[in-house]
Amino acid sequence: MGTGLSLITGATAVAAVTGLAIGGYYYASLWPTSQIFGRTLTAPKLAPGKPGEIALTFDDGPNPAFTPRLLDLLDRHNVKATFFLVGQYASKESALTRLIAENGHLIGNHTWSHPNLASTAPHKVREELRTTSDALEQIIGKPIRFFRPPFGARRPHVLHTARELGLEPVTWNAMTNDWEEPSANRIAATLSAKVDKLQSRGYATNIVLHDGSHREPAANREPSITAATQLLEHYAKTHKFVTVDAWG
Ligand SMILES: [Zn+2]
Repeated sequence: MGTGLSLITGATAVAAVTGLAIGGYYYASLWPTSQIFGRTLTAPKLAPGKPGEIALTFDDGPNPAFTPRLLDLLDRHNVKATFFLVGQYASKESALTRLIAENGHLIGNHTWSHPNLASTAPHKVREELRTTSDALEQIIGKPIRFFRPPFGARRPHVLHTARELGLEPVTWNAMTNDWEEPSANRIAATLSAKVDKLQSRGYATNIVLHDGSHREPAANREPSITAATQLLEHYAKTHKFVTVDAWG
């Protein structure tokens, strides 16, 4: 590996760079900060002297077992977050979806059935995005402007279709395996190390956590919610929590 890789850590990023070096298309399509297939919103560079900014984003809900607790938690901290909802879950949980919006949080499109869009036929990609935006708009009565591709997977036609439907693609720059990690402390420690590292380079942080699961509508997300509590407490005084439309 060349020294050009020294700023990039983690097996996925290294695999992505290796994939790119040999002309690999697949790895670039899964690399969250890759801009090779068109611009996606991650997190901006901060003006010098500005306080750090964090967007807490939650994927794969709404989850009737855990999203209400998360809403209470965010309310107690007076923080707004971004929720990328799975269309078929939102349509079954329309009251909970409405409550997320009524509490002032931003709702985005996370497809209808959570497929890997990099390997989904173009007409099916369009259907996944359009049916989800239609359902969400019907429920909350507001336009849907942001879209997060499941698994971060995208191809040029995916981004093109999203833009045609008025959706800005959003990825992240801080993630851990919160969906399979039982320790909230470890989740919070990994993410806060990322926040601090990005901050030291002058970047805001776009954190992805999961209040739901694409495999199970009412999955146990206790560790993720507890980790979110720790992050909210840890950064309450030093950072500003924003929703991704502050950057879009
Ligand atoms: Zn997802």
